[in-house]
Amino acid sequence: MSVDAIIVGAGFSGAVLAERFASQLGWKVLVLEQRPHIGGNCYDEPDAHGVLVHRYGPHLFHTDNPRVWDYLSAFTEWRPYEHKVLSSIDGQLVPIPFNLNSIDRLFDADTATCMREALVSRFGLGARVPILRLKEEDEPLLRELADFVYRKAFLNYTTKQWGVKPEEISPEVTGRVPVVVDRDDRYFTDPYQAVPAGGYTKLFEKLLAHPNITVRLDTPFNAVGSFDPDTGAVQFEGAPFGGLLVFTGMVDELFGRDRGALPYRSIRFDFQHHAVPVFQPATTVNYPNEHRYTRITEFKHLTGQQCAGTSIVYEYPQAYDPADPEANVPYYPIFDERSKAAYTAYADRLGGHARVVAVGRLAQYRYFDMDDAVANALQVFDRIAAAQG
Ligand code: UDP
Repeated sequence: MSVDAIIVGAGFSGAVLAERFASQLGWKVLVLEQRPHIGGNCYDEPDAHGVLVHRYGPHLFHTDNPRVWDYLSAFTEWRPYEHKVLSSIDGQLVPIPFNLNSIDRLFDADTATCMREALVSRFGLGARVPILRLKEEDEPLLRELADFVYRKAFLNYTTKQWGVKPEEISPEVTGRVPVVVDRDDRYFTDPYQAVPAGGYTKLFEKLLAHPNITVRLDTPFNAVGSFDPDTGAVQFEGAPFGGLLVFTGMVDELFGRDRGALPYRSIRFDFQHHAVPVFQPATTVNYPNEHRYTRITEFKHLTGQQCAGTSIVYEYPQAYDPADPEANVPYYPIFDERSKAAYTAYADRLGGHARVVAVGRLAQYRYFDMDDAVANALQVFDRIAAAQG
């Protein structure tokens, strides 16, 4: 078959580029997806009880990027939804990101008042302060607060999630969930927060519906093609491929891990259905200090689905192991100086090959949220389109 571009992976990066190539450049596009479905880790489907669940963990769409919002809005209606998370601390469920309401719930009234005042006077109302930054404070009350939040909300959760202490991972990671000097209980503050009204899979079906796009499921790239890391030559179905190869899988895998494997963290999901109308008081409840799982998510809160029972998922973080079918999904890149350098070495080698582009969370080794992945894919498209003249 003759196509202008082969795209490896049908997650956001691959689907957005396929849609742009097809609709804006008139290209014929072949999307190769190794899984039996499109949508990457955003994939959702009804479970055995008819409840819409996110098979690869909860996905909450939020963005401050109007271009991303407008772009996706051409492919889905939205259900407005603002995510809220509670954290189980000292036997109570308190808002996380840890905020002024959380302080009131966990400290006696006098201490809470003093802590709130100290936070506001130091950082200003509305500030969002990373926990590792708050821990540097000298003022005794802020120190006490920082130590408390660090120990009760971050230390054990992060140790479960990443296998290391908060100081041992990139500060950007814990910085995603700052201490909030405000009474805003929302997990995100972006102006656009919603879930696709018909679910993520339907959104991907629309993205990939253009007649110029062909999707082949159950097809790992190396089953039908190959990439020569030295020459950059791409073969497809036994013949040289002269079009553009967009690779959205793990960049180290594209190179056959010839300079070593990049580290990732995986998760085991345990789905359960309960014959009760509601299981827990928020979409997600975090368990930093108890249990081996980090959090429980109840889907009907976020999808708005009306159903008699309820489906939930427990997340058990685990080491990534490509050889273990229970642990072979690379959910999170693990950043440290070594892995960043190893990624850069792969990326530099790819940079020399103009007909191959690595795009997305796995291929660019980034902790992308969904909107970041879409924004990034749109930017990559702009560059490719500009180069077409
Ligand atoms: N985190 C934590 N306690 C929490 C929530 C988050 O320690 O209650 C830390 C943890 O290291 C986590 C990071 O903050 O990996 C980012 O959390 P986020 O909820 O953004 O992670 P994601 O939803 O992407 O897994």
